[in-house]
Amino acid sequence: MKAVRLFEFDQPPRLVDVAEPTISGPLDVIVRVAGAGVCRTDLHLVEGVFKDGMGDKLPFTLGHENAGWIEEVGSGVPNLAKGDPVILHPQPSCGLCRNCRVGNDMHCTGASFFPGFDGTDGGYADLLKTNVRSVIKLAPGTDPASLAPFADAGITAYHAVKKLLPIIRPGTNAVVLGVGGLGHFGIQILKALSCARVIALDTRPERLDFARRLGADEAFHSALDGGINAVREATDGQGADIIFDYVGEHGTPDTSMKMLRRGGTYSQIGYGGSLSIKTVDLLLGEYTIVGNIVGTYSDLAELMELNRQGKVKITAQQFPLEDAADVLHELDQGRIEGRAVLLPAGARQSAQTTPAAAFASR
Ligand SMILES: [Zn+2]
Ligand SMILES: [Zn+2]
Repeated sequence: MKAVRLFEFDQPPRLVDVAEPTISGPLDVIVRVAGAGVCRTDLHLVEGVFKDGMGDKLPFTLGHENAGWIEEVGSGVPNLAKGDPVILHPQPSCGLCRNCRVGNDMHCTGASFFPGFDGTDGGYADLLKTNVRSVIKLAPGTDPASLAPFADAGITAYHAVKKLLPIIRPGTNAVVLGVGGLGHFGIQILKALSCARVIALDTRPERLDFARRLGADEAFHSALDGGINAVREATDGQGADIIFDYVGEHGTPDTSMKMLRRGGTYSQIGYGGSLSIKTVDLLLGEYTIVGNIVGTYSDLAELMELNRQGKVKITAQQFPLEDAADVLHELDQGRIEGRAVLLPAGARQSAQTTPAAAFASR
C-alpha cells in the first residue's frame, strides 16, 4: 500500500510503498482510511520539535487525525463490522489505569500509543492499524472523509471550551485567537454550548469574514498589536474574561496576558511558543492559566453528535494523499482555510480533490 512517511527531520515526508498492517492482537482494528487531517503538529514533527528520544523511531507514517471504514477486526472486537464508518480518537488508551477509569484518556499511564505521532504508523496511508478503544462509530451512511480533523483539531477545541463552561455566564467575553484549523471549530463550539460573546482575532483579514460566518459576534484584525486595542475597546476597557489561544506561538501567549481582564482565564491550545509572566502580575491579576492536550474519548463522541446535528461543521479542503508534502507547505504558509484533508486513492473515487499545486497558484 501507499504511505507518506517521515524519514528525516527537517526534510519533507515521502510517499513510498509499504506492507499492509495485519491483525496481531484480539483488540486490534484495521481501518481503511477515508481521510487524514493535516495538522500543525505534523509541521512540528517534521521540524523536529519532538525529536528528543524519537530519533530511532524514524521512519514512520504521519497522520494522527483519521477517519475511515472498518476493514478488519481482532477476535475480541464484538461491536464493529467491515464497512462501518468510524472516526478514531488519536490516542488508543489502555482502559485499565486510574486515569482511563475516570475517562482521562490522554493521561493514560498504561499501554497507550499515538499513531502518526509517537513513531507508530499513522493514517497518511491506505490502511491504519489501531485498537478498538479508539474507535467511535459514525451514523450509518456518513462519509468519513472530510470528518478526519475532528479527531484532533476538533476534539482539542471542544475539550478546551467544555472545561471552561462552568465560568461562562451571560456577558462573558471570550476571545478566540486564531481562526485556522482549531479556531474555526472553537468559534462554533462556543456558540453551540455557551452564551459567551465570541470575539475572534486573526492576522489575516480574509479570515475575519470566515469567523463571522462561523458565528463570531465580532472579528478583529490582529496584525499590528496582536489585537490588544480592539479587545480593550470591545470590552469597555476591561479586557477579555477568557482567551482561547489557538495559536500559542509567534508571541500570542504574552499578548494574551495583556488583553485579559483581571480575574480572567488564559486557555492555551496552540503551542510552539512560550509564556512568561511575573509572579507579582499573576498575583495582582489573579489570572488562571489552563493547558489543554487533545481530549477524552467522550469529548470526541459528543462532538460528533454536535456535527450530526449540524451545529459544528468542518471547513475542509481535500487533496490527494500523494500531495502531502505540498499540502504541509501550504499549511506552513497559512494558505489553508479551515483544514486540509488527504485522501488515499481508494477513498477518492467519487470525491472532488484539489491538487495542491493548483491550490497554490490560485
Ligand atoms: Zn493534529
Ligand atoms: Zn490507561
